Amino acid sequence: DRVIIAAGLGSPFLAQYLQTPLDIRPVLGQAIAYEGEILGDPDFQPAITSGDVHVVPSGVGGYWVGATVEFPDEQGEVMADEQLLNEVKEAAIAFCPGLQHLNMTEQWSGLRPRPHNQPAPVISQLPGHEQVWLATGHYRNGVLLAPATAQILIPWLQS
Ligand SMILES: Cc1cc2nc3c(=O)[nH]c(=O)nc-3n(C[C@H](O)[C@H](O)[C@H](O)COP(=O)(O)OP(=O)(O)OC[C@H]3O[C@@H](n4cnc5c(N)ncnc54)[C@H](O)[C@@H]3O)c2cc1C
Repeated sequence: DRVIIAAGLGSPFLAQYLQTPLDIRPVLGQAIAYEGEILGDPDFQPAITSGDVHVVPSGVGGYWVGATVEFPDEQGEVMADEQLLNEVKEAAIAFCPGLQHLNMTEQWSGLRPRPHNQPAPVISQLPGHEQVWLATGHYRNGVLLAPATAQILIPWLQS
């Protein structure tokens, strides 16, 4: 009876079946995982942020560092830039020097869906389609905003 389009970068493709233009573009992000030993006080392991670079504890003696923000070119293509990842790494080591003594265990990249010419996220009824909602384009805050997104949609599903 009801459909929620929550397909990230696949959402425009689905919306076009309903003759509704939706412009969501990829913004690439790279991150690194470190492992080895606990840095600093074992009983106080906060996420640390400086200049939009984040060091996030991911279990005992593990840390994620990220992320780059890489926009597509005029053709809509975006390729991971090693130099940008190095800059993030150097910035993290500058405010958390202990990282350089840990092992880099993983390097990762993903595409964030960013709405073009409208704020993120897109949570609204698809114009002209009462039974279809969009819950997509969360860009850099998809994890953070997942509960709030559900809170907006649940009353509609239950109505
Ligand atoms: C480098 C990086 C850093 C991030 N940092 C943060 C952060 O600090 N805080 C935070 O809150 N979030 C963060 N995120 C998460 C990010 O904000 C969310 O992943 C993003 O908003 C995507 O969420 P989504 O659920 O809309 O899309 P996705 O996670 O892309 O999920 C869409 C799903 O739809 C599926 N799909 C696509 N097309 C179709 C189709 N035609 N039919 C059926 N299914 C389809 C895909 O397979 C996928 O499973 C980060 C992401 C990246 C890549």
